[in-house]
Amino acid sequence: MDLYSGHINKLIDELAGLPGIGAKSAQRLAFHLINMPKERVERLAKVIVEAKENVRYCRECFTLTDQELCPVCANEKRDHGTIMVVENTRDLAAYEKTGKYTGVYHVLHGAISPMLGIGPGDIRLKELMTRLEGEIGEVIIATNSSLEGETTAMYIGKLIKPTGIRVTRIASGVPVGGDLEYIDEVTLLRALEGRTEL
Ligand code: ZN
Repeated sequence: MDLYSGHINKLIDELAGLPGIGAKSAQRLAFHLINMPKERVERLAKVIVEAKENVRYCRECFTLTDQELCPVCANEKRDHGTIMVVENTRDLAAYEKTGKYTGVYHVLHGAISPMLGIGPGDIRLKELMTRLEGEIGEVIIATNSSLEGETTAMYIGKLIKPTGIRVTRIASGVPVGGDLEYIDEVTLLRALEGRTEL
C-alpha cells in the first residue's frame, strides 16, 4: 500500500540513496523539506546544483576546489617538494586545520580495497606517480589506519621505493579503523612527527 504521495516517495528514495542516511532518516528529511518555506527549498536546491557545477579537482593535488589550483597548491610559501598522500578532501582539511603542515597534498579519492573491488587503477595513483617526476624530496603516506588504508600505504610504498624518493608513513597513534577527520589535531600532529620510513 502506498502511504505517501508518489512525489514524497521519490524524494525519500533519493535521500535514502545518500551515504549515512537510512530509511527512517530519509523519511524525516523528506517531511522536513516539504514543511520548509518554498524559498529555503529553492535556495538549497540551487546551492546543490551550483556546487556540482563549479567544484572541480585541483590540477595538481586533485582535492575539490573552485579554482584550477587549490589554495594550498597555489601558495608559493608551501613546500612543494613534500607531498602528503591522503584518502580524501576531508582528511586534507583535517591536516590543514592543524596549521602546522607546510607541504602540499595528494588526494587519492579512495583506498585500495580488494573486498569492494577497488583496485590501484580506481584511485588517483597514476596522477601521484606523474607528480613524482618533478623535484620531490618526500612522500608522506597519511592514509587511514583501516585495512584499506594500510593496504594502500603498502602498495604506494612499494611503488615509490625504486624511485629513490623518501617515503614515510604517519605513526599509527591513530586508532585502528579511525577516520582521520575525526581525530583531534594533537593526535594528527603526533602521527605526523612520529612518521617512519617505509
Ligand atoms: Zn591542490
